[in-house]
Amino acid sequence: MFNLGDLYQQLIIDHTKNPRNFGKLEPCNHDAEGYNPLCGDQLHVYLQVNDEQMIEDITFEGQGCSISTASASLMTEALKGKSLSTFQALFDAFHAMATGDDKPNEEVLGKLAVLAGVKEFPSRIKCATLCWHTVKSAMEDATQPARTE
Ligand code: ZN
Repeated sequence: MFNLGDLYQQLIIDHTKNPRNFGKLEPCNHDAEGYNPLCGDQLHVYLQVNDEQMIEDITFEGQGCSISTASASLMTEALKGKSLSTFQALFDAFHAMATGDDKPNEEVLGKLAVLAGVKEFPSRIKCATLCWHTVKSAMEDATQPARTE
């Protein structure tokens, strides 16, 4: 029998072992650090955004648990080549999925919906959302690291 749960697990394990878009981005015109003190996850995201408000490239570095790494890896794949308004829509949909009672909006989220399972583990929700908050503070050119607490 086809088991969706296993498929999701495999995708998360794959992105944890082989994170996509991992490393420093040069040149980049936005970057920020994020920290989740509950788990110890640390991230640094780098973005190159062009005049049309399009994310031309995005990478991340850092050390964290498997959920934070897989989430950041999946996020960079989802955001590369997208507009900042798409980022905002994805941010909202991801946040609603991780914290709300609604079924994930798979049409908007695509592959990101594999992280819907974190909702069952309240302590891991911040691991999954850290990278999204970090991109947000990068776009706001925040001088303080994004924190989940
Ligand atoms: Zn974590």
